[in-house]
Amino acid sequence: MFSSAADSCSRRVFLITTLQVRPTRSSSAFLRTSITVSSHARTSASPCSSSSVVNAAMAAETSAKVIDGKSVAKVIREEIATEISRMKESTGVVPGLAVILVGDRKDSATYVRNKKKACESVGIKSYEVCLAEDSSEQEVLKYISSFNDDPSVNGILVQLPLPSHMNEQNILNAVCIEKDVDGFNPLNIGRLAMRDREPLFVPCTPKGCIELLHRYGVSIKGKRAVVIGRSNIVGMPAALLLQREDATVSIVHSRTKNPEEITREADIVISAVGQPNMVRGSWIKPGSVIIDVGINPVEDAKSPRGYRLVGDVCYEEASKIASAITPVPGGVGPMTIAMLLSNTLAAAKRANSFE
Ligand code: NAP
Repeated sequence: MFSSAADSCSRRVFLITTLQVRPTRSSSAFLRTSITVSSHARTSASPCSSSSVVNAAMAAETSAKVIDGKSVAKVIREEIATEISRMKESTGVVPGLAVILVGDRKDSATYVRNKKKACESVGIKSYEVCLAEDSSEQEVLKYISSFNDDPSVNGILVQLPLPSHMNEQNILNAVCIEKDVDGFNPLNIGRLAMRDREPLFVPCTPKGCIELLHRYGVSIKGKRAVVIGRSNIVGMPAALLLQREDATVSIVHSRTKNPEEITREADIVISAVGQPNMVRGSWIKPGSVIIDVGINPVEDAKSPRGYRLVGDVCYEEASKIASAITPVPGGVGPMTIAMLLSNTLAAAKRANSFE
């Protein structure tokens, strides 16, 4: 069942006209005026607009820089391939990644196929185990144990979600910390949360978000950052990472009062919610940097698939107000796989004492 973009924006959003009075986008001198929208303006509104109001900042001429995750991920894959060749020449060893897939979810099968292809493209050897939906937890644990003991496997990834009869915690905890390339082992997350401790691995999606900020020269230190979402795999580790980089971090979640007001204070926003176009232009501080992790299918009769993918952030509105923004698709998504490859290379280097 797909949500529709318009449905997700049913909350009333007040129209804000943003007049930039200095030439630079980073200027804090913006005038905000609330005005009413005519029915004509509504019909020409962005695809994110609710039926009653739009954000007139859309009409501004300046546009945010696009943070191109696809291109950055390509560069990172090339860097990894070069490192793997160097490692192979020097030690005769190449990194290995084992992926365990349980069940027949099409989306999971696609993710696993893409990971396998990505591994091949950089020279990582991939090992794949596909188990039936009704397999037992013991069976999965048995494979994890054998991969834990196999020196040619440097990383182990269990594709989530697992079937409901399995205990995800038991299974993820069974992956030895040295091969936990997903970074979900509580020991890795615990170290991430503590001062002066280093996790062996950082979860791939939040790591990819921070890497994008670094590669685009966005300074994090001392900045106000808001992470929307607090899941174990994205929101929470993203907030920890930003804090480690000396940002002042607020976390917005489903029970947060005034999420719009809090988000509007942020110089950097990372959104990982799973609600199409939830973050409207009026939530964005002018000149801020927006990393949109959300991948949400919305109905689109014009698309051959009948749907298209959008982020958590209304791109059309936000890109007129922010200084830089990731698109969906083509932003964080490709970075997640690139970071998985990077974690696997790091695991192999560590296991083979290769610098
Ligand atoms: P999740 O486990 O469902 O977590 C969603 C988070 O958003 C929760 O913390 C939830 O708050 C919060 N939330 C839900 N509705 C909200 C609202 N109306 N206002 C504020 N916060 C709200 O999702 P996830 O696994 O983190 O994934 C989030 C999105 O990122 C999804 O679209 C997913 O497809 C995408 N994703 C993309 C990648 C990638 O590679 N690009 C990787 C992973 C995930 P509570 O904690 O209060 O429930």
